[in-house]
Amino acid sequence: MNQPGHLQDWQPDSWQRKPARQQPVYPDPAALRAVLDQLSQLPPLVSSYEIENLKGQLAAAARGERFLLQGGDCSETFADCQSSIIAGKLKVLLQMSLLIVHDARIPVIRVGRFAGQYAKPRSSDTETRNGQTLPVYRGDLVNRPNFDPDDRTPDPELLLRGYERAALTINFIRALIDGGFADLHHPENWTLNFARPGPVADAYQQRVQAVARAIEFMETLTGGAPIPQLQRVDFFTSHEGLHLLYEQALTRQVPRRTGWYNLGTHFPWIGNRTRDPNGAHVEYFRGIRNPIAVKIGPPITEEELVTLCDLLDPGHEPGRLTLITRFGADRVASALPPLVEALQRRGRRVLWVCDPMHGNTETTASGLKTRRFERILQELETTCEILYQAGLPLAGVHFELSGEDVTECLGGACGLTEADLTRAYRSPVDPRLNYEQSLEMALHLARLLQR
Ligand code: PEP
Ligand code: MN
Repeated sequence: MNQPGHLQDWQPDSWQRKPARQQPVYPDPAALRAVLDQLSQLPPLVSSYEIENLKGQLAAAARGERFLLQGGDCSETFADCQSSIIAGKLKVLLQMSLLIVHDARIPVIRVGRFAGQYAKPRSSDTETRNGQTLPVYRGDLVNRPNFDPDDRTPDPELLLRGYERAALTINFIRALIDGGFADLHHPENWTLNFARPGPVADAYQQRVQAVARAIEFMETLTGGAPIPQLQRVDFFTSHEGLHLLYEQALTRQVPRRTGWYNLGTHFPWIGNRTRDPNGAHVEYFRGIRNPIAVKIGPPITEEELVTLCDLLDPGHEPGRLTLITRFGADRVASALPPLVEALQRRGRRVLWVCDPMHGNTETTASGLKTRRFERILQELETTCEILYQAGLPLAGVHFELSGEDVTECLGGACGLTEADLTRAYRSPVDPRLNYEQSLEMALHLARLLQR
């Protein structure tokens, strides 16, 4: 195999010689090994062809010619691997992308934060309740949320269950898309789900009607022949590449290609807690051929960011590296500009993508984690402005959102208040924009992109 020079010392398991944060401790190493052996024999979930196609599209986004829309749950649960929930997530992302394409006139790359988003970084390894201390819940790939010694013990079988659910999810999404779910000729797939009558619903309906008229116009010109681009879309998957033994088991070589691909997802990212340049996650990620992202938030320094870019993208490969910023509405104005300038001085072209969710989390008096629509929007606006001032495009956005009518984030046109939060708070981890808040956010976003 012809690895490029800087990867001569890299192997899918070379990360094991580095300090690895956020990894579960399994009580039975033999059981874990048996599962990993099985996992490494199972077929991949995505193909290198799809991955390279995405990388090409991301390269265009770095030049401002496409826009990345990435979204989904903070953490998928095995229980939510259901047709209506999966279709709902696909639908809200497609509808958001329709608004962006229509209003901002830019092609959208759609990436789900799903089909494998099952492992979570946590602030502590353990949790204590009423004097009892147990391992913390690390996502359905690792253990179960119940506060019970058995449920909280990391179970390697869950790695197989997670792989299978990722496969079921991706299979269903491919079937929906191949079956015409995203076909603009099928207005039933473009109807609104939960939106109350009001400005968001009206704005959305107006766009759908405008698109329908435009299609009619174009198909009149083609003599009624359908336009293939209107019938299907590309759809890609992503998750945080946190659980390194799982990621390693899905890292494969592909006939007639050089190097190694993570074939468990198209577009994995490194979280803000595991992006230590000397750590195991960066070591693993530097060797895979996928396009990759890194979450960039406090307390990152310019020097650290430059080192990360040099390690993860030494060849300045177009589309290779995405930086997902998540500083919070208050900090972004001071934190982001020096980082942008540092990379510009070095002639580095990356995708600057805004995650306006993770820097704006707060806890209500009653102890619920929430985020305010207005703060999320504010971070998005400020980030867009900073990049614009630097002569760069906002290349994309990264949202935690749901296709359901959940009540987890405050505000928006639906006016969710603290009193509403308990009504349909379903996320086991971070709060998501609900269906209507997501569409409203897409309308704002499209406005910001119209420069
Ligand atoms: C997340 O995306 O759910 C997450 C933990 O984000 P970050 O790494 O940015 O904190
Ligand atoms: Mn989250």
